[in-house]
Amino acid sequence: MAVSIENYNALTSELGSRTKLVAVSKMRTVEEIMQLYNWGQRDFGENYVQELIAKQVQLPNDIRWHFIGHLQTKKVKYIGPFIHLIHGVDSFKLLEEIDRQAGIQKRNINCLLQIHIAQEESKFGLNDKELKEIIESLPKAKLLNKLVNIRFCGLMGMASFTENTDQVRKEFKYLKCLFEDAQAEIRNSSFKILSMGMSDDYKIALEEGSNMVRVGSLLFGKRVYNI
Ligand SMILES: *Cc1c(COP(=O)(O)O)cnc(C)c1O
Repeated sequence: MAVSIENYNALTSELGSRTKLVAVSKMRTVEEIMQLYNWGQRDFGENYVQELIAKQVQLPNDIRWHFIGHLQTKKVKYIGPFIHLIHGVDSFKLLEEIDRQAGIQKRNINCLLQIHIAQEESKFGLNDKELKEIIESLPKAKLLNKLVNIRFCGLMGMASFTENTDQVRKEFKYLKCLFEDAQAEIRNSSFKILSMGMSDDYKIALEEGSNMVRVGSLLFGKRVYNI
């Protein structure tokens, strides 16, 4: 399957400098990733820890790796040394483990809190109440010298898998709203990323204020699940 430079150029010019493109490379080969790399792409997103670490050792060091899947606590240690941004943080327990691993690596780890905005139950993420609880617990955590190695960078969400664009737009609007509230509460200059939008819905996401999109199939072609 060919990586499309036409789609890549069209997308990057559409996004401009305001919106970061994370090229979602799950199930793509290192050769396919290198094609995009050679055209200048540096941010890549992966969903599975094993697949990510297998690729990371084979690919250039200046790639910024984004973990966009559901991260199990016990696997944080494998990506702790190099991960650039973890998009799917959805529990306090996971935050504590990321903090611990970051401490071991003597680095800060950038995190986005994942919010459940879709209608489907299967999608991971915090609801508004859980988000509020985490945000409200931060001043106390700070006093206790906890989560000091976590850099809170913003929110991430996935809209419903539906043709109904009104529904998708409604969900992105809602996420934008939560993002602005959280930003006002956290008052930290690193909290500025709103990661929303994939191949099928990134245009709506852009209209609703996304500044980071995670796009796979539009760049690499359709994924074939044949394992
Ligand atoms: C797979 C995936 C994407 C990219 O999906 P495409 O439809 O291929 O653009 C984006 N975000 C997450 C969380 C994903 O799992």
